[in-house]
Amino acid sequence: MRVARPRRAAPADAVRPTRAEIHLGHLRHNLRVLERAMGRGVAADAERPAIWAVLKADAYGHGAPATARTLERAGAAGLCVALLEEAIELREAGIRIPILVMGGYYGPQHRGLEDALHHDLVPVVYHAGQIEHLSRVVRARGAGRARVHLKVDTGMARLGVAPLELDGVLEAISRSPEVELDGLMSHLACADAKDVEPTLAQLRRFDDAYEHTRRFGLAPRVRHIANSAGALRMPRSRFDLVRPGIAVYGVAPCPPDERDPDTTGPRPRAVGEKHPLADLKPVMRVRSEIVALRTIGDGEHVGYGHTYVARGKRVIATIAMGYADGLSRALSNRGDVLVRGKRAPIAGVVSMDLTSVDVTDIPLAAVGDEAVVLGSQDGPLGSDEITAEEIATRMGTIPWEPLTHISRRVPRFYRDP
Ligand SMILES: *Cc1c(COP(=O)(O)O)cnc(C)c1O
Repeated sequence: MRVARPRRAAPADAVRPTRAEIHLGHLRHNLRVLERAMGRGVAADAERPAIWAVLKADAYGHGAPATARTLERAGAAGLCVALLEEAIELREAGIRIPILVMGGYYGPQHRGLEDALHHDLVPVVYHAGQIEHLSRVVRARGAGRARVHLKVDTGMARLGVAPLELDGVLEAISRSPEVELDGLMSHLACADAKDVEPTLAQLRRFDDAYEHTRRFGLAPRVRHIANSAGALRMPRSRFDLVRPGIAVYGVAPCPPDERDPDTTGPRPRAVGEKHPLADLKPVMRVRSEIVALRTIGDGEHVGYGHTYVARGKRVIATIAMGYADGLSRALSNRGDVLVRGKRAPIAGVVSMDLTSVDVTDIPLAAVGDEAVVLGSQDGPLGSDEITAEEIATRMGTIPWEPLTHISRRVPRFYRDP
């Protein structure tokens, strides 16, 4: 099967001063925070859940190969991606640890399952046709077994075998000695919500599916259901391994006042210890520079549609980043950027390649000054931070979106440490 290679802007190609800085030290730190929260140093290895970090969508915009290499060296037990092609990219980058292909889509006729076996990936499956195809492939190869994780739908109604159809899939697995049921998994819909009841209901259905699977004589080695919010807020959802995504990149999946909703398991930390969600460090910082500067008079306009009208004399700076780079147009006239350590509001609509900001209150702002769109900045006027959570709130979305929107046109610069 031909798999499309992702194209990324490389640092060496960068003429424009716009880039995403990826802090590999913070990535390792976040993995440590997660390991400690899962009981590292408290419970024996065999008793604490393994961490399989989620690197779908180019590692949430951070660049999957470099993120994977860093996490592998730092001791991550496995990785998860959504697409087969994302998994193959990681294998081709030399990643050796297990890779779970969560999307469960292998093309019409399930042909991609051959690639999954060829690259030693762990396919997620959820219907009998996939099992039958896998067992044919293994028989044709005449060797080995295919290890799969079966996804069951416990209340998201998106992907996974429905409880009523579980028997059919389990029968297919029982009939196929070439296929080994290595894992049983599901996905939580409301792990970040205040109300824990929907999550507890999903956990009960997951337990039922497991009991059912056991009664079929099948014994999956591992069970997993927890994303970042589940792993860090709902100890009961941890099972044998956890699949954190957003937390690995240093962003909390829920607001600070909703960190501890669950009373059904051990507290996530010792008394007096910082909550793991408060200890995460953002991995990505996105910065550009002022490339043009002008003073406009009272009543003059800025940008497409003239949505910004100057009240009095204003100083307008142009920064070399637009919505095609991932600075959302939804931030038009509502977002901020940092210049010289201080906030400057976006003036007018964000255009495709450029954004105007009002730097009237930033004394001595000049062409060549750094403009931070995401992350922190220390400057002569102070220090401040624009978090993914803040951007998401202003855009009316969740922090996952602004991170994954930083486009491939923006080169990633890896900082270590
Ligand atoms: C994206 C994803 C995760 C990780 O979710 P976060 O909320 O980013 O931690 C885990 N499991 C599945 C199936 C996913 O699609």
